[in-house]
Amino acid sequence: MTAYASPTAPFASPQEADAGALLTIDLSALVKNWHTLAGEAPEAECAAVIKADAYGIGLEPAASALSDAGCTTFFVAHLCEAERFRAVNSTATLYVLNGLLPGTAAHFAAIGARPVLGSREEIADWATYCAGIGKKLPAAIHIDTGMNRLGLRLESATKLVSEAGLMEAFTPSLVMSHLVSAETPGLPINAKQIKAFEAVRALFPGVPASLCNSSGIYLPERPHYDLLRPGYALYGGNPRPGRDNPMAPVVRLAARIIQIRTVPDAETVGYSGHWTAEGRRRIATVSLGYADGFLRSLSGTNLKPGGEAVVGGVRCPIAGRISMDLITLDISGLAEDAVKRGDFATFIGDGISLDEVGTRAGSIGYEILTSLGHRFARRYKGSDRQGQDPFI
Ligand SMILES: *Cc1c(COP(=O)(O)O)cnc(C)c1O
Repeated sequence: MTAYASPTAPFASPQEADAGALLTIDLSALVKNWHTLAGEAPEAECAAVIKADAYGIGLEPAASALSDAGCTTFFVAHLCEAERFRAVNSTATLYVLNGLLPGTAAHFAAIGARPVLGSREEIADWATYCAGIGKKLPAAIHIDTGMNRLGLRLESATKLVSEAGLMEAFTPSLVMSHLVSAETPGLPINAKQIKAFEAVRALFPGVPASLCNSSGIYLPERPHYDLLRPGYALYGGNPRPGRDNPMAPVVRLAARIIQIRTVPDAETVGYSGHWTAEGRRRIATVSLGYADGFLRSLSGTNLKPGGEAVVGGVRCPIAGRISMDLITLDISGLAEDAVKRGDFATFIGDGISLDEVGTRAGSIGYEILTSLGHRFARRYKGSDRQGQDPFI
């Protein structure tokens, strides 16, 4: 069999001079946001959710910066992410949100990861494994209070606690649930979930409890309990949509202008001719596309505006379809000599927030973040470990 080189590690990124776009990740803003969130609930511990490559910013650098800042509990979604985390931190408490797949218990135990057990089968699986090795290993129990996705329903949880054989084989180290609509504080589902969680918590006396994601932390009920589980807000997303954002921006995306042209009146720009020049327009073609995770739904037509970028301090609309590797911007609002080939257009940053990009894309900032590609040059700043590669 031929041996192939293994794929490039996820944190490898091209040199700035060779890349079409520059993604700047401010790790000191990440740490600041963690402190801000922790400060909202001084009586609770603040964990960090670093699933999905730390929402796209890079699991290793995010985990290292937050560990250095004092964060000692982390959540990932998959066991493979837990494995990556352990390469940079061998001691922190580590939960795997997607729980225990059949046959993986020994791997969890080997790397000291704790599954978030969301069904009786998973609990039985973990209990059997623990009994087999004679160790009461820790695990979280996930209770479903309304999401109907993962977790035991209240009735099953009530039944479970009476099954001593199961519950005594391992150590429940956390009881948790997840909020459905925490970003909309007015909805009755929040109070309903909090009430259900209160009931279920009582079944597990002495076990630390956790309910809040980023937005949950800011709910008027302050259902903070023992452990906060923010993700999005750590990375600069607004946990209080529609109100001012208490978070510092972490991510900045700027791409290079590779050509500037004048388009005559009535000609179209880009695939399928979805944007027509109304009068003579100046168009900048930028080295960024949907292959970089810049969603195609940010394309702009004459009737339906799409995304925007800041060039020379001025907001410029995306003109026409976003292609795989290119975006065309209408820079007619700028003076002729204000911009030249090689300059940057900012797509996230300079007043364009993640949440704005998400809304313009008909999506959410979470998807913008987690879609960020790997063709950018990635520059990490604000870490003591600057220059140390790759954060191990
Ligand atoms: C992703 C996730 C979080 C973090 O949510 P944010 O809205 O990003 O703060 C917390 N808890 C669970 C169970 C999750 O899946």
